[in-house]
Amino acid sequence: MATGWGSLLQDEQQLEELARQAVDRALAEGVLLRTSQEPSSSNVVSYAPFTLFPSLVPSALLEQAYAVQMDFNLLVDAVSQNAAFLEQTLSSTIKRDDYTARLFDIHKQVLKEGIAQTVFLGLNRSDYMFQHNTDGSPALKQIEINTISASFGGLASRTPAVHRHVLNVLSKTKEAAKILSNNPSKGLALGIAKAWELYGSANALVLLIAQEKERNIFDQRAIENELLARNIHVIRRRFEDVFEKGSLDQDRRLFMDGQEVAVVYFRDGYMPSQYSQQNWEARLLLERSCAVKCPDIATQLAGTKKVQQELSRVGMLEVLLPGQPQAVARLRATFAGLYSLDMGEEGDQAIAKALAAPSRFVLKPQREGGGNNLYGEEMVQALEQLKDSEERASYILMEKIEPEPFGNCLLRPGSPTRVDQCISELGIFGVYVRQGKTLVMNKHVGHLLRTKAIVHADGGVAAGVAVLDNPYPV
Ligand code: ADP
Ligand code: MG
Repeated sequence: MATGWGSLLQDEQQLEELARQAVDRALAEGVLLRTSQEPSSSNVVSYAPFTLFPSLVPSALLEQAYAVQMDFNLLVDAVSQNAAFLEQTLSSTIKRDDYTARLFDIHKQVLKEGIAQTVFLGLNRSDYMFQHNTDGSPALKQIEINTISASFGGLASRTPAVHRHVLNVLSKTKEAAKILSNNPSKGLALGIAKAWELYGSANALVLLIAQEKERNIFDQRAIENELLARNIHVIRRRFEDVFEKGSLDQDRRLFMDGQEVAVVYFRDGYMPSQYSQQNWEARLLLERSCAVKCPDIATQLAGTKKVQQELSRVGMLEVLLPGQPQAVARLRATFAGLYSLDMGEEGDQAIAKALAAPSRFVLKPQREGGGNNLYGEEMVQALEQLKDSEERASYILMEKIEPEPFGNCLLRPGSPTRVDQCISELGIFGVYVRQGKTLVMNKHVGHLLRTKAIVHADGGVAAGVAVLDNPYPV
């Protein structure tokens, strides 16, 4: 596999001039973030970090990732409806992981009361890296699936114009034309609009659960704008506002400031630090309502790393997706090695393997948002400490994917333009809507490529490690 832009990366002066042009185009296109100094206001904004060049991605792997997305939608939806599977899969984890336990408590409470929600909306993003096989060929391997707050669909719609610009400046018009158009925010909005329509109340709103400090607001606005263009109004509120002003009527319809809510779209609530006691109560109120939650609590649980690991067990996909051998085969082909660390022989063996070859594994807790996984020496220390304690069940072990590094420039406000050795992570956005037992929408709606320097093991764009990119299909 060819890995890059070759001699273009050698001319420092040209790189700097290209970077200036790229940054100005990014700002003009709306590839924006609020600054870390002023995360609650749009008075001062800057560009979201991105690569100077699009990164090479084998077309076959891009196609494979798109082709398996509807299967992943089906799988997540099936898991979310399978209370027995969730209970069994998470039973050891919730004994040792308070956060997952609290989510699971809400799930149990809602099941006990009876689920009022009848329309279900999934907006997810399945992430992959390209494993560099020993024979030199690349293979698509899933890192994880995000079932809550999957972000950057908005900004990813705007970056193709920036990379086309860079290539056009270099008179590489043929290459510029190869950059795929991409509009995930439109597809995500269409999913929300469908759910809103099926909810069936013309005056009801979409409630976006937002954080007070939100640097990535323009990404969210892209979806809001698409909805407003369809005459669907969005209000942004925090969990604290829901706690104070949210209510249910006797039919468990959700009201916020006196207005009925058809769809709740979470862009908060995916990590423990985002929940105070009040926020937990607000989350429960939302879950009990008949509004369409994106995601509902069961779908959030379906996106945990523990579920991902159990899904990779021999025979598990066949049970969850009966009569669909082709979907099962497509899904399984993307699975990396995943190992349970539950107490017992299987977990002991996994730990022994990781301790014998630490560079080949990643230790993952049940967390989202980047920066939580452990690698190398840190992983060894953690495993030594956890080995004999039941706490180890709150983690899973994963085979480390090793892509072939390539050169690119990561452009960040305030950082000099220089070439780094990088690897990429491809995400595909999936949307599905189910009414009762009937799936009324199931599709893929675009992609996100993120690229980071190989010196960083972990972390996404929001964590300040990866930057936005576009696949250049080869
Ligand atoms: P999070 O929910 O925090 O995003 P991820 O599973 O996506 O957790 O891991 C965060 C980052 O760590 C990924 O974006 C990727 O860069 C790196 N990573 C995770 N799993 C692996 C793996 N198996 N091999 C190599 N890198 C990994
Ligand atoms: Mg991730």
